[in-house]
Amino acid sequence: MSKKPSDTELTPESFTGMTLTKPKHTAAGLPAVFSAVRHIMDEMDPLRATKVMFELNQMGGVDCPGCAWPDPKDHRSKLGEYCENGAKAIAEEATTKKLEPEFFAKNSVEELAAQSDFWIGKRGRIAQPMILDEGATHYRPIHWQDAFETIAKELNALPSPDHAVFYTSGRTSNEAAFLYQLFVRMYGTNNLPDCSNMCHESSGVALSETVGIGKGSVTLEDFYESEVVLVIGQNPGTNHPRMLNALKRANKNGAKIITINPLPETGLIRFKDPQSVGDVLGEGTALTDLFLQVRLNGDVPLMKAILKLLWDKEKSEPQSVFDKDFIESKTEGFTAFIDDLESKDLNELCEASGIAILQIEEAVNILASSKKIIACWAMGLTQHKNGVGNIQEVVNLLLAKGSIGKPGAGTCPVRGHSNVQGDRTMGIWEKPKDSFLDALESSFNFKAPRHHGLDVVDSIKKMHEQQGMVFFAMGGNFLSATPDTSYTAEALRNCILTVQVSTKLNRSHLVTGRRAIILPSLGRSDVDMQASGKQFVSVENSMGVVHSSQGRLKPISTHLLSEPAIVAGLAKATLKDKGNVEWHQVAENYDIIRNMIQATIPGFENYNERVRDPQGFVLPNGARNADFSSIGGKAKFTVNEIPDNKLKQGEFHMTTVRTHDQFNTTIYGLNDRYRGIFNERRVILMNEEDMKDQTLEKGDVVDLWNEHNGIKRCAPRFLVVPYSVLQKCTVTYFPETNVLVPIDSVADKSNTPTSKLVKITIKKVIV
Ligand code: SF4
Repeated sequence: MSKKPSDTELTPESFTGMTLTKPKHTAAGLPAVFSAVRHIMDEMDPLRATKVMFELNQMGGVDCPGCAWPDPKDHRSKLGEYCENGAKAIAEEATTKKLEPEFFAKNSVEELAAQSDFWIGKRGRIAQPMILDEGATHYRPIHWQDAFETIAKELNALPSPDHAVFYTSGRTSNEAAFLYQLFVRMYGTNNLPDCSNMCHESSGVALSETVGIGKGSVTLEDFYESEVVLVIGQNPGTNHPRMLNALKRANKNGAKIITINPLPETGLIRFKDPQSVGDVLGEGTALTDLFLQVRLNGDVPLMKAILKLLWDKEKSEPQSVFDKDFIESKTEGFTAFIDDLESKDLNELCEASGIAILQIEEAVNILASSKKIIACWAMGLTQHKNGVGNIQEVVNLLLAKGSIGKPGAGTCPVRGHSNVQGDRTMGIWEKPKDSFLDALESSFNFKAPRHHGLDVVDSIKKMHEQQGMVFFAMGGNFLSATPDTSYTAEALRNCILTVQVSTKLNRSHLVTGRRAIILPSLGRSDVDMQASGKQFVSVENSMGVVHSSQGRLKPISTHLLSEPAIVAGLAKATLKDKGNVEWHQVAENYDIIRNMIQATIPGFENYNERVRDPQGFVLPNGARNADFSSIGGKAKFTVNEIPDNKLKQGEFHMTTVRTHDQFNTTIYGLNDRYRGIFNERRVILMNEEDMKDQTLEKGDVVDLWNEHNGIKRCAPRFLVVPYSVLQKCTVTYFPETNVLVPIDSVADKSNTPTSKLVKITIKKVIV
C-alpha cells in the first residue's frame, strides 16, 4: 500500500505565512503574561475571565485542564497559580463562543474537514448533541435519550462486546473514569485504550519492572532538597511550564540541573518568573548548568557512558561514588549490569550519543559527588522502539547512586494531561489486574471479562481489519493523537458507529464511521449541578496527589451533560438490569461514586473525607520509601541494548514536538515563540550542514517520505528551517507528521508508537 501524497482532509496543507526570528533565550516573563491575557480576552468577557482565573489551581478551585504538574502544597499565589499555557487551556475550554445546530446545518462535514485544526478548534464549544446519519453530509441535532438508545442499540447488536472500543483521554475525572470502566466491563470487554498507551506507557512498564510501581516516586518538595536534577527528553517551558518554578527553587537551593535533549529549549536556558519583580526587571534565573545535546535516541549510549565513567571512579576510590549499602540491601542484578558496562567501548558510546567525552565527564563530575538525584523525563524517552530500555537505563543510574526512596531523590516521569495518571488508577487499562476485577465483581455483582483488551495501536489495527465495530471516545481527538493518520482514518471509517464525548469540535468528528454522534459535555470549569446539588470531581496529579476540582462558570448551553451523567445515561440504556448499580442515582451525587471507588481501589480509604481537605491526599507509593516488596523486595538493575540507529544514504531521523502554542492536539495559535517560528506549523527543522548537503535553503518546500516494511508514506509540503540540531536529526510538529509514523513501529513491551524516531527522506519540491 502506498499512501497518496496528498490527503488534505486529514492534514490541510496550505502554508500560512512563516516568519522567523532568532530562538529566545529566556522563557516566561512579561511576554508570557501578555500572551496569556490575549488568549483569555479573545475567548470571554473580563467578568468571566476574572471568575475562572482567580480560581485556577487554587485549593478547592478549578484544576487546570492542561498538564498534570502538581500544585505547591505550601503557598499558592493569589495573583495566579498558573502558567501561560494553563491560561490558554482554560481560555479554550471556558470560551463563550459556541456551535449551535445552525453552524452544522450551514457547514458540511466535508467543508469543515478542509479547514485547519487551528480554525476548527477556534469555533467554540459544541452546544447540543449531534448525529451524522448514514450517507448524510451534515450533522443534525439529536435528543440525549435518542443518542443513548442509538448507541446502546448498536452496542447490543455487535457479535461480541470485544467489537467495541472505549477510548479515554487524560482529562476525564476520577469519578467519570471509574464509572466508565465499570460500565465497559459490565458490558463485557476490557477494550479500554487510553492516551497513556501513546505517552508514558513505556514509563509504566519500565518502572513497574524495576522499582515495583508504574508511577514516579518524587513529590514537589523533593525538588527543593535535591542536589542534581536531570531533565531528559522533555521541554517543560512549553509542556509543563510551572515545572520551571520548581527548577528555579531547586537551583536557588544549590541543585545542579543537567538537561539532555536533541535541541536546546528556551525554557531550560533561562526563566523569568512573571510574579517576581526581581526576575521581570532583571535577567531571570539561568536554569541549566550543563546541556548535553544528544543525538535522537542517543540516550542509552549516553547513560552507559556516564555510568561507565562513574564506575571507573568508584573502582579507583571504592564507596566514593556508588551507594554500596543501598545496592547490597535493596537491589539485585548489579553484577550483570557492571559486566555489561565493562564490555562497552567508551568512544563508541560517545559517538552513538553524539556528545563529546569532555562534556560527558562534566556530567560525571557533577553526579559523582551527589547523593540526591532526581531524574525527570517525558516523551523524548518513551516514544522509541527502546523506550522501556531508555527509562530503565536512567533507573540504573538512580539505583547505583542510591537515589530513590529518600527525600530529594527519585523518578519523575512528567505526565502530559491533567488526569492521565488518575484515569489509569481508576481502572482505565486494557490489562487490568485480577485483584482489581475481583474487587469489581464482588462490589457490583457481575462477571468481569478476564481476557485482556486492546490498547490504542491494537484497537486501530482491529478496526482497520474488521468492518462494523463501534468506537467510543471519552474526550480527546483520537485521529490527531494517534500515529499513521491515513491508516487510522481508514480504521475509523470502517466502524459502524463512532461516538465522541467532547467539549469542542476537532478532526475526529470529521473523519467518522458510517454514523457518528457527538455528545457535548461540561468542561472542568463549568458548574456541575446535579439533583443533589453542586458537584465537584477529583483528579490525581503527576506526583500521586489526589485533590478536588470544582467548576465555577455558568455552562454555555443548557444541553450539556457531565461526563458521569453521560456514562450513566449510556449504561442505563445499554445494560438495562445487568448488575446492581443504580446508574441515575450515582450520577446525581458523586459522593456515591467516590464510595464505590473506595470499596474497590486500595489507597482511597475515607475518600470523601480526605478529598475535601483543600490539599487533597497522597496515594501510597512503595518506591518513595524504598519499599520494593511488590517485586519481591529488591529493585532491579537491568541490561539494556544499545539501539541500532544506522541510516541509509539520504535518510534522516525525524522527531515530533509540540509548538509553544499547542497542548497535545489542541492548537491555540500558529506561533512557536520560543523557537522563533511564527505563523507556520508545516516546518522541518534541520542542521545547516545537512541543508547544504541536500542543496536546501531556508524556506524551501520539501515533501517528507517514510518507507517502512515496504509501505510508503508521505507528508507533503513542509518549509525548511535551519536550526540547532545535530546532523541527520530533524524536527517537525505533531500532529502534522503523524502520517509518517508507521502503525507497526512501536516500543518493545509498551506498544507505544515511536513518534520520536522516524526514518525519513526529504525531497525538494520545485514551486
Ligand atoms: S503547569 Fe500545567 S497544570 Fe500548571 S498551569 Fe501550566 S498547564 Fe496548567
